Amino acid sequence: MVGCTRAGNDVRGCAWRSAGRSLLSAGLMTITVVGSIAFDAVRTPFGERERMLGGSATHFALAASFFDEVRMVGPVGEDFGEADLAVLRDRGVITDDIEHVPGGKTFFWRGVYGWDLNDRETLDTQLNVFAQFEPKLSEASQDCDVLFLANIQPDLQRQVRSQCRRARFVALDSMNLWIDVARDSLVAAIGEVDCLILNDAELRQLTEEPNLVRAARRIREWGPQVVVAKQGEYGAAMITSEGFFALPAFPLETVIDPTGAGDSFAGGFVGYVAAHPDEPLDHGLLSRAMAYGTALASYNVEEFGTERVARLAPDEITERVAELEQITRFADKPVTLRTAS
Ligand code: AMP
Repeated sequence: MVGCTRAGNDVRGCAWRSAGRSLLSAGLMTITVVGSIAFDAVRTPFGERERMLGGSATHFALAASFFDEVRMVGPVGEDFGEADLAVLRDRGVITDDIEHVPGGKTFFWRGVYGWDLNDRETLDTQLNVFAQFEPKLSEASQDCDVLFLANIQPDLQRQVRSQCRRARFVALDSMNLWIDVARDSLVAAIGEVDCLILNDAELRQLTEEPNLVRAARRIREWGPQVVVAKQGEYGAAMITSEGFFALPAFPLETVIDPTGAGDSFAGGFVGYVAAHPDEPLDHGLLSRAMAYGTALASYNVEEFGTERVARLAPDEITERVAELEQITRFADKPVTLRTAS
């Protein structure tokens, strides 16, 4: 079993299960996400976009919206228009807790990818409205069953975490910028969640452990019982108290823009957990969740930004998970192995 940890006075995980069940019967289970809501400028070898809807919370919410009701928390500026909100609302994402800051500018990120799409360079990050943001969640957002702290300043993640005390599963993502400039806050934030989802290079950087299994063990000493290492086009690996599980990325012939792949993965992974409120949060369920995360991420990279996931159909997800199951399954036929003579 995972997700049944206790850190200081902060009781997490399955201690909340029974409360969650009664909410489920009332049909009120939801996912809350805080993270960046952004405009991205992105160049890849296959094209560019000067300003497209992006942000960690956006990509997460679109992917997770296939599994459960998602409430997004975060600020946007005056430049964030109805068309941007419509992308989210068209997928049923609840945008009531998106704060519109008068006179403010939306978070902006500019990145460029070379031929190795695993390797991207950040050219500009403008926090804008996030610099002054103080999250005050509505009761409905606080009442979530599952919480995702998407990549954003770790103190903001902690403020949101402290307001969602009933959540039965809390996952957190971050990135190298926050390891560089806010490491202590990030470590504190990680200590308050059940699951850490991070790029493998960032896991190594954060723990100063070159070996992934040891890095995960270190993280698990800090609190989270589930550690997921995202490995870009190589897939993702998960370590829980019950063991190790890994999946390759879905083999695609055309990848256009990897921006948001990690958040889409998290949306599929966390969304699958949210969709199973009555099942034990064990290694088996989390392994299946990895498959849904992998499927969502694979669609995300097929086009720029949110373009592909915004018009994705549920059947396409089911289909891709089935294909993934097919290509990762094998039946061993033992062979007689030679001993040294
Ligand atoms: P990923 O899933 O890692 O590709 O996330 C891509 C998204 O992260 C983009 O849409 C960016 O807007 C967002 N992003 C980039 N840098 C930051 C940052 N420092 N904090 C929060 N979000 C960011």
